[in-house]
Amino acid sequence: MRRLLVAGNWKMNASKVMLNELLSGIAENAPQQTDVVVFPPAPYLLAAADKLQGSSVKFGGQNLNANDSGAYTGEVSASMLVDCGCEAVLVGHSERRTLFAESDADVLAKTEAALAAGLVPYVCIGETLAERDANKTEAVVEQQINAVLNGLTVQQLAKCVFAYEPVWAIGTGKTASPEQAQQVHAFIRGLIATKDEELALNSHILYGGSVKASNAKELFGQKDIDGGLVGGASLKAEEFLGICNPA
Ligand code: PEP
Repeated sequence: MRRLLVAGNWKMNASKVMLNELLSGIAENAPQQTDVVVFPPAPYLLAAADKLQGSSVKFGGQNLNANDSGAYTGEVSASMLVDCGCEAVLVGHSERRTLFAESDADVLAKTEAALAAGLVPYVCIGETLAERDANKTEAVVEQQINAVLNGLTVQQLAKCVFAYEPVWAIGTGKTASPEQAQQVHAFIRGLIATKDEELALNSHILYGGSVKASNAKELFGQKDIDGGLVGGASLKAEEFLGICNPA
């Protein structure tokens, strides 16, 4: 049985005041039946650790460098995230792939570095609108997920979370319909099953792309959708909690 998992990606949005208010609201009201994780920007991770002490809400980094230390100005390593109390890290978010030219090989290297440090990598995949319109959704998703499926062992993959995020639905207000999302989630689970059937049954596959309190229930009600990776709607405690508790 896969528990509902809801993750909030704050992207480059935070301040000390916002962190205090948002994390207080989430930590005090997070539903017990849902696993909740937040991804604040890197400078706020230690403050998040402080604020979430004793809470069931976990937190993680939005990015990492695959190297452990050294002359990589501006970068953050997996061991630093662990040192700050992180339990997870986003890998391969479409904004990283598009704006920072991260390749499938980078995604694999970062996923390996995260796993080696004991972090849960949230591996993000998804097609652009042009790719969907050209009927390439499955081909794109397959290529992106195969980069990790072919590069990792079943034991390593069992520690990953996958997030299907159609790029055309991220931050646009355009959500994939529950049927559209379910179709791709089932396809992804099928790809994982080619590696290992039990792995596929146990893997969490989150949906991301304009998830809101008003559409979460229907999306999360789909057989192969195990929760959400939420951007904009994770910045307001009430809205985010509505997503965490969609019943
Ligand atoms: C995201 O950034 O991962 C995301 C899904 O954003 P939004 O919910 O704002 O579409």
